[in-house]
Amino acid sequence: MKEGDFAEKKSLILCQDGSPFIPYYPAGINTDKCTGCGECVKVCPQNCIELKEQNGKLVAVIVDMESCIGDGMCRLVCPEDAFT
Ligand code: SF4
Ligand code: SF4
Repeated sequence: MKEGDFAEKKSLILCQDGSPFIPYYPAGINTDKCTGCGECVKVCPQNCIELKEQNGKLVAVIVDMESCIGDGMCRLVCPEDAFT
């Protein structure tokens, strides 16, 4: 194994089934689709998302992208497929 291969192997995170873990960092939330259900807020382990009123409607807003760990739980639980 070459040195570069080893460095790559060390940085590769695998899922329990052995497939590579591909992080997801939300680019944004489609406020037209968002119903303000709050599911993404509940599951985010880093408190990156809050519900805020925008144009008289409660919607999810990413308030702390710096703390995002890319686990993708927000997108997974969103019933409206609002994450981009
Ligand atoms: S990817 Fe994870 S840490 Fe990042 S905003 Fe979504 S739930 Fe929070
Ligand atoms: S889970 Fe989806 S629909 Fe519900 S608040 Fe979050 S972005 Fe909006």
